[in-house]
Amino acid sequence: MADKFQTPKGVHDILPDDHDYYTFIKKVVRHRLRQAGFRRISTPIFEATEVFQRSIGNDTDIVQKEMYTFSDKKGRSLTLKPEGTAGVVRAYIEHGMAQWPQPVELYYVEPHFRYDRPQKGRYRQFWQFGFEVIGETDPALDAQVIKLAYQIHEDLGVADLLSLQINTIGTPESREKYQMALKDYYIGKERSLCEDCNNRLHTNPMRLLDCKEEDCRILAQLAPKMENFLDSDSKEFHEDLKDFLDGMGIKYEENPQLVRGLDYYTKTVFEFWDAKEGAQNSVGGGGRYDGLVELMGGQPTPAVGYAGGIERIIANMKREKIRVPKKDNLHVFVVQLGKDAKLKCLPLINKMRERGIKTMGAIGKDSLRIQLGIADKFETPWAVIVGLTEVREGVAIIRDMEKGIQETVDFEDIIPSIIKKIGDKSLDKYSPGELIY
Ligand code: AMP
Repeated sequence: MADKFQTPKGVHDILPDDHDYYTFIKKVVRHRLRQAGFRRISTPIFEATEVFQRSIGNDTDIVQKEMYTFSDKKGRSLTLKPEGTAGVVRAYIEHGMAQWPQPVELYYVEPHFRYDRPQKGRYRQFWQFGFEVIGETDPALDAQVIKLAYQIHEDLGVADLLSLQINTIGTPESREKYQMALKDYYIGKERSLCEDCNNRLHTNPMRLLDCKEEDCRILAQLAPKMENFLDSDSKEFHEDLKDFLDGMGIKYEENPQLVRGLDYYTKTVFEFWDAKEGAQNSVGGGGRYDGLVELMGGQPTPAVGYAGGIERIIANMKREKIRVPKKDNLHVFVVQLGKDAKLKCLPLINKMRERGIKTMGAIGKDSLRIQLGIADKFETPWAVIVGLTEVREGVAIIRDMEKGIQETVDFEDIIPSIIKKIGDKSLDKYSPGELIY
């Protein structure tokens, strides 16, 4: 026998039971963001590698270690997107969105790819929803972005499990001074730092502050604080943000160690942490990135955004035994015996589906016993049985699968009878919406 295939390391199939969660989360995200004026964007799964190098920053973990980069047949370097903001900003510039009414509010729900070490909550393909407000600056916008993320968590029943961490990392100028001070502080202490931090010290010293290794964490506690290097504008911006969060009753923790793993942030940065597990299990993060559009070749344009990890939210929901509505369960299995019955049942099945009755039938088996057995396996509460006699008499049998009780109804009465039994509310009614010509 040939070897069986398996998914590559770190990636997973999303099976139907899990899709119930994805579908529900996507619905919440879509509704909350649409209410706030956001429109959906999808950027390609891969971009020119340079898009990520330039935006995320060459010295970050993502660019150094985690990108899926490959050459196409013409030798162009391409990379599967490890995060969403870079592509959205590239699209903002490419499509002249600076000419659209500002701010431009966009959201996405997409798979992302990182060559991470697979472990709980860390995969090589994962889904993120994210949203960006591009073209305006105001701490009230940062507060609104945080509030939207919070509302989405609330709708998903996980808001109380998460703690909001906020910080400001100032402007690039104030940050440069801070980074010098950090280097001065860490130089001479290299032997206490992990290997990664030793490498980061000269390229990206702020990343030493959020290292998870015990020794690095102790040193980070005593390191110089950003607040002593902040410019007055960033300070005021941060105070205003906190006032707005307080005004909306959103609880937060100030965390001077929070720096986020990407270079493009300015001023506000924030993350939602699992209150029990802390930084290891951040379900999402974001911040302000006022310099990114310009860095990517556009006009100077302020922006703020957020991205949340869907798998981690699902893990939280499951841990708390939060379930989502199941939409896939069938209502009816149509048992048909013989070709004449099939001829009558095929249009019936279609009509039932159009009315919102989730129906399965016309399976390639002819025996009543076998077909009822299939209905049982699919756990349909009702079966409609049509054999030769029923075709001749213009009737059908409706069987209550759990109780085993049967009744005979006129063929025309099948649909109303079933709807009465299952209730109008459980119908899977579908309207594609009106087309505009
Ligand atoms: P980041 O921008 O790296 O903070 O990512 C934002 C969110 O995406 C994180 O808080 C996680 O919820 C999720 N995420 C990031 N990387 C992974 C991964 N490798 N596997 C699963 N989820 C991830």
